[in-house]
Amino acid sequence: MERFEVYILGCGSALPTTKHFLSSQVVNMRDKLYMIDCGEGAQLQFRAMKQNFQKLNHIFISHLHGDHCFGLPGLISTLGLLGRTADLHIHAQSDAEKLFAPLFQYFCKELPYKVCFQAFNPGKSELIFEDKSLKVTTIPLKHRVPTAGFLFEEKPRSPHIIREMIDFYRVPPSQIRAIKEGAPFVTGEGETIPYTVFTRPAEPPRKYAYCSDTAYYEKVIPIVAGVNTLYHEATFSSADLARAKETFHSSATQAASIAKAANAGRLIIGHFSARYPDEQILLNEALEIFPKTQLAYEKMILKV
Ligand SMILES: [Zn+2]
Ligand SMILES: [Zn+2]
Repeated sequence: MERFEVYILGCGSALPTTKHFLSSQVVNMRDKLYMIDCGEGAQLQFRAMKQNFQKLNHIFISHLHGDHCFGLPGLISTLGLLGRTADLHIHAQSDAEKLFAPLFQYFCKELPYKVCFQAFNPGKSELIFEDKSLKVTTIPLKHRVPTAGFLFEEKPRSPHIIREMIDFYRVPPSQIRAIKEGAPFVTGEGETIPYTVFTRPAEPPRKYAYCSDTAYYEKVIPIVAGVNTLYHEATFSSADLARAKETFHSSATQAASIAKAANAGRLIIGHFSARYPDEQILLNEALEIFPKTQLAYEKMILKV
């Protein structure tokens, strides 16, 4: 199956610690890389995971809190030093350009490439990126500042060819592509054979959803329904629910409830508060509601 993976570069919240880097992930869809959030240190982790900067053309920023975007100026500068020439697209709410464009102009005057800001409205779910294999849709979240998560959806793939049937009917290679796209095959004797004889359906398209940062927010559920993998923040334990409410974050129990209601294939929790020396407490809490939960960790590789 074609590659669809997620690399966790950082999964801590608020401030970097010796244990966690800040929020940043890379989605690898068929060897094209898409960064989600860019907390401090993201470029180091990108290197540590031996990823290729040239394959990165799009960065999606959920919201303008420092722990999700302070890594941008450093990364933009590094890409210039590495001699990048291809455009780099930053998808974020409109304030991002106001804040970062002057910084880039001051510190990265001679950039050999163009940074293109693509603004989206974090208040509604909309398609913000699409190519032949991928669609990215925003997921409005409930946080102290305008925030959106992202749904990465693979586009339906063409069906698999059944070699034996191709051979049996002596289908010329020039016609295989049309058959994959649904055309029938007409034999030398004039018999019409439908494409379904020659193909079996492709696996259903895979989906990955990123929801951070957010308070418990049920409007997320229909948007992420049926995703293979859901990354949801679980900054706090239920014992600190008051703090979670005050700061518009979620508890591990709340993250698990969202995953359960959305019937997700599995849940990865992250954006951990530094107050927990052992995150097992968060995992145990989530497991009670949703058994297919795992803790995020730096350099984790998720096959979606
Ligand atoms: Zn955060
Ligand atoms: Zn935040």
